[in-house]
Amino acid sequence: MTKRKPLIAGNWKMHKTGPEAVETARKLAGLTADVDRVDVMIAPPFTALAQVAEVLRGTRIMLCAQNMHWEPRGAFTGEISAEMLLAAGCTHVILGHSERRQFFGETDQTVNLKLRAALAAGLKPVVCIGESESERDEGKTFSVLDKQVQNGLKGLLSDDLKGLTLAYEPVWAIGTGKTASSQQAQEVHAYLRDQLAKAYGRSVAEAVRILYGGSVKPANIAELMAMEDVDGALVGGASLEAETFNQLVHYQN
Ligand code: PEP
Repeated sequence: MTKRKPLIAGNWKMHKTGPEAVETARKLAGLTADVDRVDVMIAPPFTALAQVAEVLRGTRIMLCAQNMHWEPRGAFTGEISAEMLLAAGCTHVILGHSERRQFFGETDQTVNLKLRAALAAGLKPVVCIGESESERDEGKTFSVLDKQVQNGLKGLLSDDLKGLTLAYEPVWAIGTGKTASSQQAQEVHAYLRDQLAKAYGRSVAEAVRILYGGSVKPANIAELMAMEDVDGALVGGASLEAETFNQLVHYQN
């Protein structure tokens, strides 16, 4: 059982118009109104953020963006700054999701630029890392994660880790229906925490939430959450329907 307050976060990716997002957020707010032992967060698309922020006002559900640019403003057509996300009502931002790395050329270096900009602006980052199937098969899981953590978090001070959440999302488990076993997840999460402890000290590392992501569903969440170093879940597909996501939030029942 984790020592940190669990966080169940839904990444809606490129799903839902503003009105659709509002409807799901409203249902979810009603269904999760009783929840206080678990933090709940949703990441709608940019176009729905401000409307969803209105729905979430006065609820415990936190609002997260799915990406941002590292510059505060300027000639960067199609991009969104940390300040814009804050103004839309976000407290958190997902950075370095594997789909952004795979399809939009994100690297550990751009993740690092975004991470520093998010922290400087007062947004709490959720940094995604994870190995591909071939990297796991070749026994490179830990070296890949080392590189992602060292380069992605480069230049951060212990204090910066207070607002940071890590999400371990093995690429082979995202949207594939294949979930890491709870033992595989625990092995990686404990390893990541040890690496953070070496770099920033044990007490700092013990306070960082490390989420698992990759085909989390009502059928497998309890087993994953029973692991000592699994502090929550970052959920794609199973977060889109309020009823299903609510079952994930209520995994302890
Ligand atoms: C994700 O996109 O972060 C994710 C984990 O997706 P899914 O739950 O659909 O595998």
